[in-house]
Amino acid sequence: MNSPDSSPAKPVSDVIVIGAGIMSATLGVLLKALDPSLTISGYERLDAVAAESSDAWNNAGTGHSAFCELNYTPERPDGSIDISKADKIAEQFELSKQFWASLVQEGQLPDPSAFIHTIPHMSFVWGDANVEYLRKRHAALLHSPLFKGMEFSTDPARITEWIPLVMDGRDPTQPVAATRMAVGTDVNFGALARALSDHLKSLPGVDLHLGHEVEDFRHKSDGIWRLKVRNLATGQSHIARARFVFIGAGGGSLPLLEKSGIPEANGFGGFPVSGQWLKCQNPAVIARHEAKVYGKPAVGSPPMSMPHLDTRQINGRKELLFGPYAGFSTKFLKQGSYTDLFKSIELGNIRPLLYAGARNLGLTKYLIGQVLQTPRERTAALREYYPEANPADWQLEVAGQRVQVIKKDKKEGGVLEFGTEMVTAADGSIAALLGASPGASTAVAIMLELVQKCFPARAASPEWQVRFRQLVPSFGQKLADDAALAAAVREHSREVLRLEA
Ligand SMILES: Cc1cc2nc3c(=O)[nH]c(=O)nc-3n(C[C@H](O)[C@H](O)[C@H](O)COP(=O)(O)OP(=O)(O)OC[C@H]3O[C@@H](n4cnc5c(N)ncnc54)[C@H](O)[C@@H]3O)c2cc1C
Repeated sequence: MNSPDSSPAKPVSDVIVIGAGIMSATLGVLLKALDPSLTISGYERLDAVAAESSDAWNNAGTGHSAFCELNYTPERPDGSIDISKADKIAEQFELSKQFWASLVQEGQLPDPSAFIHTIPHMSFVWGDANVEYLRKRHAALLHSPLFKGMEFSTDPARITEWIPLVMDGRDPTQPVAATRMAVGTDVNFGALARALSDHLKSLPGVDLHLGHEVEDFRHKSDGIWRLKVRNLATGQSHIARARFVFIGAGGGSLPLLEKSGIPEANGFGGFPVSGQWLKCQNPAVIARHEAKVYGKPAVGSPPMSMPHLDTRQINGRKELLFGPYAGFSTKFLKQGSYTDLFKSIELGNIRPLLYAGARNLGLTKYLIGQVLQTPRERTAALREYYPEANPADWQLEVAGQRVQVIKKDKKEGGVLEFGTEMVTAADGSIAALLGASPGASTAVAIMLELVQKCFPARAASPEWQVRFRQLVPSFGQKLADDAALAAAVREHSREVLRLEA
């Protein structure tokens, strides 16, 4: 690490969080709720909070509960449906809602309508095989209390009542099916991250520095991390010190993790996937749709590219988007550099990168196809979900950037993962979050896990255990196995977050 300028050393913080997206904001608020005496410093390279993936227009705002996302319920070779992942995702989102509800009750978060709204979550498919899959999926999910109330229909008239845009003008001979969960949500993760940050900044012992980029790390034998931080406005650097560091830099986490030098970082690589939406400009069309409708991903596409026609609530306005159309860019952040991917390649991850690349030629082909899509092809994709769509009503917008994790694998050499990966040092002094999916919805579950891993003694203490249960009443229990508890916590969160029944 090059020697930075000799500005007076700041006291050692208990915690430094890098990045001001939903993940760092959640961790900061959780830690302060557990121990108000902790000192926390935050560094964000942009001049605004939550301006990368967490911003409302950079993600889909789906409160991922596996109600509508078909990739969480794969079909087994024997034709049965595996719902274990769906149960996990649904449970994780219930933890998030419980935490947000507790913060609202404690006055730490403002009016919940600033960040969360009820919107039915639907899956929609066509063709005999897909209809059969959806029927089996629905039957399997009803065994779990987390999917109680899910409706299924193959009746075009019923589906038209639910989603007229999707059905109007559709070939009446086409077999179709849909499921509907009325208690789905749309979350403005940008507004939520900003509200969490505002609260955090108001607490004693917290400082947040915008326009400050973390460039390098060193862990000294005294157990303290030194971070080289550059003030992007002045160009000057200083050293920030902390006992614990969280790398919550979104797409920027991988390069920082590599610089940390911890052995656990070895072998990780990243594969960036960019995205675009079609955003509806016609208020009459926006008014006619009232659901998040997810379909089946195209063959060879990554799971997060499932097309969806999506009602949003952003800054008090109802909106409608369709997408995402995937793409490829070598940037790791939307506001990053085209050299990001190349700079992330090291001796330790070149083998996993090459192996994962060779094993995912289908994905590469799919992404190239998406990048080369013409406006006419994009409209054709939209019309699969909204047959009467008029391209003049839709505007193309760039979504957030995701960096999929590539991991060293003994058998395969390297594997491409589509989930979220938490990497922690053996001594628990630093943790990083890689990957993007299911993402912001699971921020609370991820941070609860992180706190228990990195602060094991304090997390096991009676004080923190009590506080965990105050903040997340079902903490330590499994909702999928306890129908009464699942119903009770869902109802409590619904009431406090003022969601519809
Ligand atoms: C197209 C798309 C659709 C999505 N849809 C959904 C969805 O429907 N539901 C859902 O739950 N999730 C969704 N996600 C995922 C979700 O957006 C992310 O998981 C989540 O926003 C990640 O939050 P974060 O705080 O880790 O990252 P970010 O919000 O990206 O924040 C990281 C911050 O770190 C800063 N930073 C980076 N490097 C440095 C550095 N060196 N120094 C200082 N600061 C730095 C960045 O500027 C940024 O502000 C989607 C993502 C995308 C891209």
